[in-house]
This record gives sequence, C-alpha cells and structure tokens, in this order.
Amino acid sequence: MSSAVSEEGRPLTGTNSLKSEHQHGVAVVEGSSVLGLGRARSEGHDDSPRTELLEATDAQIEHAIGFADPFVLRGLMYQLTGDARIEATTAARAEAGSVSYLDGGVDALVISDADIALVRARAVEFLKGYRDRGAGSIDIGPTERLERSLTLAAGQEMPTGDMTMWLEELALDPWARGVEWQTPTPERLQGFSVVVIGAGMGGLNAAAQLKHAGIDFTVIEKNPGVGGTWFENRYPGARVDSPSRSYTHIFGVDFQYPWAFCPWDENQRYFDWVADKFELRDQIHFDTEATSVVWDEDAAEWEVTAEGPDGTRVWRANVVMTAVGILSRPSIPAIEGMDEFEGRLFHTARWPEDLELSGKRIAVIGTGCSGYQLTPELALQAGHVSLFQRKPNWVFPTPGYRTPLPPQVNWLDRNLPFHANFVRFRTNWLTGPEIVGKYLDLDPGWNDDPHSRSAVNKVMRDGCIDFLRQKLGHHPDLLEKMIPVHPPFSARPIAVDPDYSVLDAIVRDNVTLVTDPIVRVTRKGILTGDGIEHELDVIVLATGFKANEFLWPMELRGRGGVGIEEVWAKDGPRAYIGTMVPGFPNLFMLYGPNTNAYGGGGIVNIEEMVTRYALKCMQHLIVEEKRSVEPSEAGYRRYNAVIDEREKRKMYSDPRAHNYYRNEHGRSSTQCPFGTEFMWHSLIEPDYDELIVA
Ligand SMILES: Cc1cc2nc3c(=O)[nH]c(=O)nc-3n(C[C@H](O)[C@H](O)[C@H](O)COP(=O)(O)OP(=O)(O)OC[C@H]3O[C@@H](n4cnc5c(N)ncnc54)[C@H](O)[C@@H]3O)c2cc1C
Repeated sequence: MSSAVSEEGRPLTGTNSLKSEHQHGVAVVEGSSVLGLGRARSEGHDDSPRTELLEATDAQIEHAIGFADPFVLRGLMYQLTGDARIEATTAARAEAGSVSYLDGGVDALVISDADIALVRARAVEFLKGYRDRGAGSIDIGPTERLERSLTLAAGQEMPTGDMTMWLEELALDPWARGVEWQTPTPERLQGFSVVVIGAGMGGLNAAAQLKHAGIDFTVIEKNPGVGGTWFENRYPGARVDSPSRSYTHIFGVDFQYPWAFCPWDENQRYFDWVADKFELRDQIHFDTEATSVVWDEDAAEWEVTAEGPDGTRVWRANVVMTAVGILSRPSIPAIEGMDEFEGRLFHTARWPEDLELSGKRIAVIGTGCSGYQLTPELALQAGHVSLFQRKPNWVFPTPGYRTPLPPQVNWLDRNLPFHANFVRFRTNWLTGPEIVGKYLDLDPGWNDDPHSRSAVNKVMRDGCIDFLRQKLGHHPDLLEKMIPVHPPFSARPIAVDPDYSVLDAIVRDNVTLVTDPIVRVTRKGILTGDGIEHELDVIVLATGFKANEFLWPMELRGRGGVGIEEVWAKDGPRAYIGTMVPGFPNLFMLYGPNTNAYGGGGIVNIEEMVTRYALKCMQHLIVEEKRSVEPSEAGYRRYNAVIDEREKRKMYSDPRAHNYYRNEHGRSSTQCPFGTEFMWHSLIEPDYDELIVA
C-alpha cells in the first residue's frame, strides 16, 4: 500500500462494500452499490499523478482557486476536510434570479462574500498542504459524509430518496451504470452476443458497458467515425446547449472540456477519446448501415442485415440495442424548385468541408437551434446572410456560451482532487429535475396572463422579452418578429450568448431577417410571397430532423413477422420505460420513445440508465438460462397511460408550439415528461411482474 492518506489521515483502503447478490449460485456484482460507489475510481480515491501541482507556487494555487465555483469548493472541501466551518456556511436566494435556466434560473442561490472567502482560503490551505505532502494518491474521505457534501455543493436540501442517483452523478465509480460478474462467470456468457446499432453517445456507452461486463458485442455504424450527432453536425456555430460538464458519461468525468458549452469539434474529440480509451474501435463496423432487424422465433435470436463496404452482411445475436438517435436523419422540406438551384444547397448536418464563405450570399432556412446557432457565425464570415424565419423561438441569454473556460478551471480539474467530479455533480444538479423541472410543467389553474402557462413561466417570459428589448429596442420591426407566440419551454429553448447571438446578427448590415413565406426556390435563389427573388450562392437547410420516425428507415420485425410500424400506427412510437416493446423480445432502444429529457436531467443520463437496465435484463437471461425477455402488454399499457396523463401537464402540450416535440397525432413520441429521477427509479431494476421471461 502506498503511503497515500486523506487529509484526515485515513489509510487508502477500499471503503465501499460491494453489493452482491446470489442468483442461482452465480454471484452478481452490481456497479451501483448503496452510495453509487460500488467500485469507485480506484476504490474511492484519485490516483492520477500531479506533477504540475508539485511545481506550482503558492501564488499560482491562490490564483487558480479564485476561479473555482464557490458551491463546488464548498461541497468538495467539506468532503475532503470535514471542516465544520465550511458546513456552517450558508446559501441564500440571489436578489435577482437569472433568465439563464441553465444556471439556477429564477431561484439561483448565492453564498455571502465572507463565506466564499472562507471556503477559498480553506481550499488554498488544503491544496498547498496536499502539494507539500507529495500530491499523491488521495482518498475521497468518508463515504457517509458524501450526502452532506453534495447538499453543500447543491446549496439546498436534496430529496433523500434520490441520493443514490446523485451520488452516481458524482461519477466516483465510472462503472456505476453497468454490471459485472463475480468469478466464476456463468458458462452461458460465452455463447451470448449483442448487436449495437449506432456509435454515438448511446452506442459508445453501450459498447463500453458491454465490454466491461464481458459480454460479446458488435457495433454497426453507418458513418466512417464515431460520435453520431457530432460527427454529422459540423456547421459553423454547432455546439451543445447542455453544459458540457453534464454532457459526458459518468466514465468520462476526467475528460477535460475547455469550454462550458463545447463546439462540435470538442464534442467529437470526447467521443473519439471514449472510443480510444475503452478500445472500442475494433468492435465497430464503420460505413455499415443496418437495414433490417428480424426476430427468429425458433432460435430466439435477432438477425441483423447491414450494407457495408463488402456488400450485404448478416449478424445473429441474442440481443439488439438500437442506438440510432432521434436526430440523425435530416428532415428535408419539400420546397418547389430545390433541384433547379444553381448554387449549393445542403442540410446543416451535411456541411461541406470545402465551402468557402467569404463574400458568399447565403440563405439559412429554419430558425430552430441549428439556424439560430449558425446565423451569427455566418454573419461574421459571409458576404450576406438571409435568415428565413417562419416562427421565432425563445432565446435565453447564457453567460459563457461562446467563450472558452479560463485555463485555471482545467488546471483545477487536473490538480485539485475530485474537482471535476464536484463540478459535474453541480452542473447536473443545476440542470436537473429539482431546478429545471419547474419550468417545464404548466399550471392548469394559471389564468393571470394568456401568453404564459404558470407564474414562473411568466417570469421567464418577461426576462426573455427584456433581453429581446435590450438587443432590438431600436428596431421595433425586428423586435416584433422575434417574439414567439408560444410560451417559453413549450418548444425547444435556445441558449445564446448574451454578447453575440442571432439577435446581434440580424441588426447587422449584412444580415436580413426574411419573414415573408418562401414560395419556391429558383435557379438564382429564393422567391418569397412579397414577390422578391433573393439572389443566393448557397442555401442551407436548418430544418431539423425526422425526430418522430424512430428507427427509420430500418425494417424491424418482431414475433410473427409483425413490423414495428404496425404497432406504432395508431398514435406514433411508444415504449415500455422508454426502451422495450411487447412482441419485440430482447430489443432495447437507447434514446427510444419518450426519452428525450424534458423534466430536468439530460439524454446522456437516461441513455446510461437504459443501458444498465438492458444489461440487468441480459444478466437475468444468462443467469436464469432463459431465451427472451419482453414487456407484457399490461406493463406497456400501464406505463404509457402514465406518460399520457403526465404529458397533459407539460409545457409542450400548449397548442401554440409547433416542433418535433409533438407528432401528427397531437402527442409526444419524443419527450420524456418525467425528470431523470423518475427514470432512474423506473430503470434501476427490471420489474419482472411487468416482463415476460421465456
Ligand atoms: C445540432 C445538435 C445539437 C444538440 N445539442 C444537444 C445538447 O446540447 N444536449 C443534449 O443533451 N443533446 C443535444 N443534441 C441531441 C443529441 O442527438 C444527443 O445529445 C446525443 O448525441 C444522442 O446520441 P445517440 O448516440 O443516442 O444518437 P446519435 O448521436 O444521433 O447517434 C446515432 C448513431 O447511429 C448511427 N445510425 C443511425 N442509423 C443507423 C443504421 N441504420 N445503421 C447503422 N448506424 C446507424 C448514426 O450514424 C449515428 O452515428 C443535439 C443534437 C443536434 C443535432
């Protein structure tokens, strides 16, 4: 054992007992144990070498600590030191809340200057001491203290029933959302295999978890590289609008994100890092598109057919996990004359590498997230930009949206033990159900204002309108065109930089906001309803994706040759807890129907939870020597009745909003009306009363 000790002098022994249970003589170890610390990163300690810290001067340490988030330091320092003075610091509601719903929003909390100074001083003292002791391996401290530490980092009390989920989000155990076996592993593990379709965020997680669990798998990916959304969306301005610290898998906590909101190339770097770190590439068949997935009743196996570089290829597997995303098939509008256009015309997800922008007259059609991200960047580079807008969308000023993080933040990630973990937790908390959830629910009794659907919705709407006025007050014509009719959050909210965004772009001399309807595309440009032909060199379709056509265009046939489209014909795609469908055994959809996070929390979290659920079902099949698992009709109906009931209270049910959140049947197939905590509880253990195992 190394001489590494925590500041309190505790020896570095594994502090966390593994939860294990014996099923028919086979010991199963679950990644998720009581505190989400089944086997923490090196059993609850951080053992990365910190040579950089060893060389840091006192002044450098003091300077860097000045860049740390006070709430993060508060929780982390309490955890590492147990200092009662830190525990006694208080958080209070900020005088003015923020319209940035990603940063605490209307209920944003603050710590007093005196308390911040105390916490920083303690952190400086700790870090100097740690450096002077050799900056070696370090223990997270008592696990029983973690709940209190998280509460201090959150700034408020947390629901006790959800604590295990939040401890998972702290990402001390990179494999908390997977499963493992104790030795000896069951014999049947050898003959068991899985096909994963897609190598984006969901498919890579599935692959890493399957590999960790020792289950044989193959990944089929239609693109030449990993990354999914971020491999495809490379337009200028493409970036996340979830904070990047919450946009990693729990095993990715140590990836150093240099931006609060990373552009596409940084996201791509992350997914490449995942593929390399977990050595997944050898199991991925690139340039290979799955075309059909058919259940073979006799063999109780799936037959997956795909087209790849060597022609048609067929795989057979016990289980299929679809990780094809919902935003991976561009939606191309049917505008007359598109094929006559003499310039270049393409979708945002197909941005040509060789496109020279300088001097070009460019049209952007569509004002969802992509259109609003793209326009301000094009305005800086192109000759002229015309933004064709049918409907405006709400934009939310989000500080730091377009700015890299100060390097000191990444320095802290590298040198202050568990800093990245606590930043991740806090970011997830601020974007989670307890904070963000309230914006997404409407108040059925709200009658005070026809434009909003709840008191807090009105506050956010007023805040957004203030922001629009600040930017467009001198352009009343533009201001009017940029105020949406739908209430905020009933359609996709769009995070923008407070200093430079689409609102700044449309007042520039080289940008025109066009609201007259498009009549047709001509050889030279676009003809609008007012009779003007806008002459163009390039037309960009920022028209979104076929989000409601789940699994399309793959053919998927379950028991008795029934196609999935028949099951979903009535009112669009549905699933049991977002992942399974009766009659389609051993099929798990990641990012399946009603899993697009819309209740607080992120897609990545739900994909991880679904993956763990799928792995637990597989474990059951293997251990119990069964062939298939699928939801009962009753379970499927029960879950979907809850969805239907719940979505009546969601903002997106407002009829004024039109976007991919609702399908042509008037319900949502995409949105998850629950917070991640609900999904966590639903997905933590298979409920065999609602599953048919044969
Ligand atoms: C511009 C943009 C910005 C976004 N920003 C955010 C954000 O800020 N926060 C957030 O949470 N989400 C965001 N999203 C949603 C994003 O899609 C998810 O966050 C996440 O990337 C989904 O990962 P995935 O693996 O499930 O799907 P995808 O990333 O879509 O990956 C699916 C993969 O499956 C492959 N595939 C599809 N069909 C087949 C087939 N038949 N055979 C073989 N391979 C196939 C695709 O090529 C792709 O690689 C954004 C999406 C877009 C388009």
